[in-house]
Amino acid sequence: TKYVYDFSEGNKDLKGLLGGKGANLAEMTNLGLPVPPGFTITTEACKAYLDSGEAPAQLRDEVSAHLSALEERMGKKLGQADDPLLVSVRSGAKFSMPGMMDTVLNIGLSDESVHGLAAQSGDERFAWDSYRRLIQMFGDTVLGIRGERFSETLEEAKTARGATTDVDLSAEALKELVTKFKNIVSEETGRDFPQDPREQMDLAVRAVFDSWNGSRARLYRRQERIPHDLGTAVNICSMVFGNLGPDSGTGVAFTRDPASGQQGVYGDYLQNAQGEDVVAGIRNTVPLADLETLDKASYDQLMQIMETLENHYRDLCDIEFTIERGKLWMLQTRVGKRTAAAAFRIATQLVDQGLIDEAEALRRVNGSQLAQLMFPRFDSNGGVKNAEQLGWGIAASPGAAVGKAVFDSYTAIKWSRSGEKVILIRRETNPDDLDGMLAAEGILTSRGGKTSHAAVVARGMGKTCVCGAEELEVDTKRRCLKAPGGKVVEEGDVVSIDGSTGKVYAGEVPVVPSPVVEYFEGRMHAGADDADELVKAVHRIMAYADRVRRLRVRANADNAEDAARARRFGAQGIGLCRTEHMFLGERRELVERLILADTEEERKRALHALLPLQQGDFVELFESMDGLPVTVRLLDPPLHEFLPDITELSVRVALAESRKDANENDLRLLQAVHRLHEQNPMLGLRGVRLGLVIPGLFTMQIRAIAEAAAERKAGGGDPRAEIMIPLVGTVQELELVREEAQEVINEVERERGVGLGLSLGTMIELPRAALTAGQIAECADFFSFGTNDLTQTVWAFSRDDVEASFFTAYLEKGIFGVSPFETIDKDGVGSLVRSAAEAGRATRPDLKLGVCGEHGGDPESVHFFHEVGLDYVSCSPFRIPVARLEAGRAAA
Ligand code: ADP
Ligand code: MG
Ligand code: MG
Repeated sequence: TKYVYDFSEGNKDLKGLLGGKGANLAEMTNLGLPVPPGFTITTEACKAYLDSGEAPAQLRDEVSAHLSALEERMGKKLGQADDPLLVSVRSGAKFSMPGMMDTVLNIGLSDESVHGLAAQSGDERFAWDSYRRLIQMFGDTVLGIRGERFSETLEEAKTARGATTDVDLSAEALKELVTKFKNIVSEETGRDFPQDPREQMDLAVRAVFDSWNGSRARLYRRQERIPHDLGTAVNICSMVFGNLGPDSGTGVAFTRDPASGQQGVYGDYLQNAQGEDVVAGIRNTVPLADLETLDKASYDQLMQIMETLENHYRDLCDIEFTIERGKLWMLQTRVGKRTAAAAFRIATQLVDQGLIDEAEALRRVNGSQLAQLMFPRFDSNGGVKNAEQLGWGIAASPGAAVGKAVFDSYTAIKWSRSGEKVILIRRETNPDDLDGMLAAEGILTSRGGKTSHAAVVARGMGKTCVCGAEELEVDTKRRCLKAPGGKVVEEGDVVSIDGSTGKVYAGEVPVVPSPVVEYFEGRMHAGADDADELVKAVHRIMAYADRVRRLRVRANADNAEDAARARRFGAQGIGLCRTEHMFLGERRELVERLILADTEEERKRALHALLPLQQGDFVELFESMDGLPVTVRLLDPPLHEFLPDITELSVRVALAESRKDANENDLRLLQAVHRLHEQNPMLGLRGVRLGLVIPGLFTMQIRAIAEAAAERKAGGGDPRAEIMIPLVGTVQELELVREEAQEVINEVERERGVGLGLSLGTMIELPRAALTAGQIAECADFFSFGTNDLTQTVWAFSRDDVEASFFTAYLEKGIFGVSPFETIDKDGVGSLVRSAAEAGRATRPDLKLGVCGEHGGDPESVHFFHEVGLDYVSCSPFRIPVARLEAGRAAA
């Protein structure tokens, strides 16, 4: 194997071997762009080093050979005393990873060569500035000395000299600083700062290799399911200097606006600066457009290069460049990050420019970006501009939330019950805060990252959340929030939090609906001349997706209103209508009567009272989905859910008894509650078990469906009802229900004199059902995978309990990258889905297959369902566009 590649030997497709940075440096070199010469040590070399703990001898030789060639080409040797070649050592893995070692600049400087650099450049200040930067970066990243030791010493020097920025420090001051920095190194490591340039280089390379196994990097990989054995590449790049005075500088640029997608000149430039200075905010940068007046030739060249790169990568690129005394150098490029809105706009712009086709445009956007665009947001015209920003944290769960600040869950619940909107503000949340989080419009914490309790639970609830806003001090005792500027938010003061940007504002920032939702709702038209550019782009991309996708998309909806919205959003039917939602409200009493019935007669009466109500619901539903399939699931939850809470009722009865006026009905209720009480209701009497145990219950529901269908038919409608049986574990259960159903259906068809074409199928949501899917298919017209329950039963996780208790720890330990309730666990739950689908189709090739868990609207899961050959996914109305888009992407 070959361990080292010159920049001229690689290309952009070798990211696995050369890392992202190295591959793109090679690509730019081969495009003839001005890249400082250098070479890349491959990920293979890193792996060999990590395997044996020793750099392979061959690597040393290859590095020596490439270094010699570089020295030859540059006409000077690494660290040469009178005219040193300096290099940067830059990490660069296939995926960019937090926690990996960054870059060390100016390798090759020493007590001796610093004078050579000063003489050659004619700039003593520059030479000492470069040397102090080397010791600082090397000390921090290679020797592991706390960065503050250096930065604090630098601050002291500035204060002592009355300097406002580092550029104001004289050569003399910098020289002193170098001495101080070297002392820090000796103190902290027990040895002197290495003077041998090759040793500096080798140590830096080794530190990059080692950083692959740093704990933060490992955690990140575990969460993101990035294999641990990829290794990182290391780039050795000859230095160019942006800190050589005012005709030098360094900058970053984007080929188009990463916020809007508009083409133009976007970026920042900083004169007389090196490396990270421009992003570190140590001095004020100028907009890139100003470079035109500062250095017209370099500016023009840069514009040309940006065009070359865009056409070459066929995408938005971001760029790092440096100008050394009027000469432009390219130091990095990559396909740039962008906002969700920009992703859609750029994809369609590139189609229009003929750079990419529609399938590629689909690959350039994704469902989570679309989901982001569908949240209401703060009004950026006026609203946000006039708002007072208190600080910001991590954008943990998107949305825009406004409410009164409260500092504990109790208050959150109390205030929200009295109709107030509240934002729950905590240092961090824990399981005791659950009810408060539910009651709040949004959640703000000052501690914890994207996997903190607040973040995970808020995402699960779909609540807006900003977490880890460290600059904001939460004082739970005094019940206030202190912002860095001195502003204090007291309990009851209104705050606004933006879960999409992480920003926190004082007062009420006006919220506007998302134009993308307005479009899906049909209130905004993409065809209009003045239509929003974003809406036009979304419209086009959705059309591409709908054209290519194979998966159909249905909605989980229980009422005509949701169904109508789902249809506007593009639903092709209902995949899950939960009939228990039709038993709530004033109908609860009828259910109570059913449960309490002592005699056959009483039960029949109760069922009889429910029948017309159910039937009415179905008529409405079938009407709103006329011509499209509607899957109605028969009653699923345990009956006790329809009865009063056991504790409340016990107290009521006890109090009444003490007053000697206990009411007969309450006593019976209490008995029933006791009778039906279960330790594990989720694993108890529910689903098909209820239907088989309570005579007449399912029959009533099936009759309601059949009668409703008949009514619609008589009215000229086209109802397409599908009856779905929940929680089936064995084919015998389904057989029994099927026989019963068939009788009822035949009867209704006979009475009404019309064929109803009803089909009957089952949920696959128990491991046993999945394992015996071949048998179950004999008795089912369709399967709908209930992946919520299937995830619970396969993992033995009670969702309501575990998400709030130990999922945070699991996420932090990297056991999951994401909750298995959010994205389907492909290896476990997913493999059951796959094998059940295969077994079902083996029995019955025309078996219709769908999924109706929340996974149906999750981007990654949709790809999985496409891959295993399901016919449709079903999700909540708001997720339908996301599912359509992802189904298109999966097929493109
Ligand atoms: P990161 O991955 O954090 O962007 P880089 O390797 O790109 O790290 O380096 C950090 C900064 O140092 C960048 O601004 C880059 O432009 C600058 N830099 C890296 N190598 C050189 C070099 N050979 N000459 C001048 N500047 C460099
Ligand atoms: Mg960089
Ligand atoms: Mg279920």
